[in-house]
Amino acid sequence: MSNQWDQVIGHEWAAELLAGSIANGRTGHAYLLTGPDQIGKTTLARTFAQALNCEAADEATRPCGQCRPCQLIAANRHPDVRLITPEVSGRGKLTLKIDEIRTLQQDLSLAAYEARYKVAILKRFDAATEGAANAFLKTLEEPPRNVVLLLTANDADTMMATITSRCRTIALRPLATPRIEDSLQSRWRMPEDKAHLLAHLADGRLGWAIRAYEDSTILVERQQNLDYLQQALAGDRIDRFALADKLGRKPELLPEILQTWLSWWRDVTLLTQGENGRTLTLTNIDHQADLIARAANWTAEQSLTGLQQTNQAIRQLRRNANTRLVIENLFLVYPLP
Ligand SMILES: [Zn+2]
Repeated sequence: MSNQWDQVIGHEWAAELLAGSIANGRTGHAYLLTGPDQIGKTTLARTFAQALNCEAADEATRPCGQCRPCQLIAANRHPDVRLITPEVSGRGKLTLKIDEIRTLQQDLSLAAYEARYKVAILKRFDAATEGAANAFLKTLEEPPRNVVLLLTANDADTMMATITSRCRTIALRPLATPRIEDSLQSRWRMPEDKAHLLAHLADGRLGWAIRAYEDSTILVERQQNLDYLQQALAGDRIDRFALADKLGRKPELLPEILQTWLSWWRDVTLLTQGENGRTLTLTNIDHQADLIARAANWTAEQSLTGLQQTNQAIRQLRRNANTRLVIENLFLVYPLP
């Protein structure tokens, strides 16, 4: 029997678990879906919301994707299924504010317009302020009848235990590269070479690959980010300080820039540790020749330092450190030409 659970790619076990909970009448009132960005947490949540409210007569075909609730939910227009997204501020930092939670709570306290279940999908609840999280606790402790709360987060460990302990946690993992490549070709009808490249760059995130296919600026920006790194590595101290100053003026771009650098350093590190030839494990496969040349010049320790310090810089930026200083310090530990 076909149903829309097959839009959940790579997390079949989680789809089975949620479908099973509906079939057994054991649906929980709160779930926490964790994992990296763009691996399918919201798709899973939305499909669950559809399954809970689908009107197909044959339960095995739910969610059908055809009935009115299924279609409204897919289009984010169902009056009883709310999607709450955190605000993005200056440096790309996400914040979920208490006002949003209060509005949602008022809404959830009212009876459903037409659905069997009111569903709230709260994206990146790990970005909730302490006030917002505390306010939401009340809803988690005494949920209104026929309300299902679906929280998503990168990492449960950064959240208050009082929140996580009241949710059933479903931890999603990044997808294997071949699985992404297959899906891009069979479902999204991408040409083979494009699917091959994007699957590798995606780093386990199918959603990223699809977005990069639909929006060509993503790959252009990635190349720009790699160019900055090459510029830094080719430069002396003075060049590097000038570049740090320039990048320090673009704090909103830095998280993505550093993520690109991190993936590049990871590739070099894999190669210096003797992974030559095993191209499947490399991310930046379109820069393979350059990566191999770099790896031949540096020791495993040098590239590992580059990797670890880049990771450290990402963490420092999350803690609101001075952007220019973070980049300057990073360039001091990157190997000189
Ligand atoms: Zn349906």
